[in-house]
Amino acid sequence: LSDRLSGVFDRLTKQGALSEDDVKTALREVRVALLEADVSLSVARDFVKAIQDKATGQSVTKSVTPGQQVVKIVHDELVHVLAGDEADIGVLKVDNAPAPILMVGLQGGGKTTTTAKLAKRLKEKQGKRVLMASLDVYRPAAMEQLKVLGEQIGVDTLPIVAGQSPADIAKRAKQQATMGGYDVYMLDTAGRLSIDDTLMTEVEAVRDITKPRETLLVVDGLTGQDAVTTAENFDGRIGISGVVLTRMDGDGRGGAALSMRAVTGKPIKFVGLGEKMDALEEFHPERIAGRILGMGDIVSLVEKAQETIEAEQAEKMMKRFQKGRFNMNDMRMQLEQMQKMGGMESIMGMMPGMKKAASQIKESGFDDSVFKRQVALINSMTKIERANPQILQASRKKRIAKGAGLEVPELNQLLKMHRQMADMMKKMGKMGKGGMLKQAVK
Ligand code: GDP
Ligand code: MG
Repeated sequence: LSDRLSGVFDRLTKQGALSEDDVKTALREVRVALLEADVSLSVARDFVKAIQDKATGQSVTKSVTPGQQVVKIVHDELVHVLAGDEADIGVLKVDNAPAPILMVGLQGGGKTTTTAKLAKRLKEKQGKRVLMASLDVYRPAAMEQLKVLGEQIGVDTLPIVAGQSPADIAKRAKQQATMGGYDVYMLDTAGRLSIDDTLMTEVEAVRDITKPRETLLVVDGLTGQDAVTTAENFDGRIGISGVVLTRMDGDGRGGAALSMRAVTGKPIKFVGLGEKMDALEEFHPERIAGRILGMGDIVSLVEKAQETIEAEQAEKMMKRFQKGRFNMNDMRMQLEQMQKMGGMESIMGMMPGMKKAASQIKESGFDDSVFKRQVALINSMTKIERANPQILQASRKKRIAKGAGLEVPELNQLLKMHRQMADMMKKMGKMGKGGMLKQAVK
């Protein structure tokens, strides 16, 4: 992808706003990249369309090519779509013991393995008592497989009774979990090679008996175009609460992740990274986004674009300082930048002649949470007040402090700091095209 993209991007050297053509050209390559990553056709098409609308007309920052800018937009959107509500990632709802967890998916997707991995995780990380039950009545070996895994990780399994239906086993599991004082019971269902009506009906019965707190769709991360059909069917018939992507240790590009998110809107909670019982991780949207887009080069391209954008902001600010302008908007930007760069101490430590001041600040008990409160104070000001902090009188100060949930003395401190910084900026500005602040900001 990178080669192809950079070829296209070299041709896109115009500056200014992103034109429809710029975006179209770059997105054609992105679409191919998505398909190569096994994102399903319809999902890739929709995704590219959404980006097209978003990107066209956005201004291109100096020294970033339109192509780089488009890639950054694509990357950010991809992370956004993959992440969804981040509060759901890596979390299982297991309150109200015994909490049932239903595992569904096609055969060979990794249900049984993932059931055991999750049981181990619940036991070790959350101290839960877990019971696992195999509902795979078609393959006696599958029940045996879960039992062996249970012994290996020290988690109980429901005793195997021949001749029972999945619904019967589910009832028995529920009963045993309640009687035995388990926190969680996991139901590992059978799978078929393709969607199958009998199987769905069975799983529906199990769902209605147990009313699962989580219904997890386990999907092979190497699945390509089929991922969408699988997700649509299971979510439509059974209703899922989340997805686990397995075999992400393989060299697949993980396009199934995007397909799953797009079709079900449900969170991807975990990722399987091998056959071992520890090979399970929380889902990391950035990693998969990088993988889908073709990794390394793209990510560094995106980072470079980001840096350039920040450097341009810094340059704009420098120009204002040289003119002796430094209002609360500048101050806020500075404060936010400082937070990003690791706080006051590390920044002042980088500025020549500021080492002593930095240690004084530290001794005075200053900590970086002050930045957050200061930003809150600035946000509480009106536009006019931000541009002209000198107009702040007692009544305005009271209102601002109250709006930020803070006291006036803290606002006074902010104003004092602003005056000192404004003085310093002016001096630095007069020092000519003073590289000093510029260096510090970089
Ligand atoms: P089920 O039919 O859905 O229950 O699938 P299984 O749990 O039996 O898994 C099928 C095969 O895939 C087994 O050989 C597993 O060891 C293997 N497997 C499961 N998850 C992963 C994974 O994340 N990575 C790799 N490499 N293999 C996996
Ligand atoms: Mg199985």
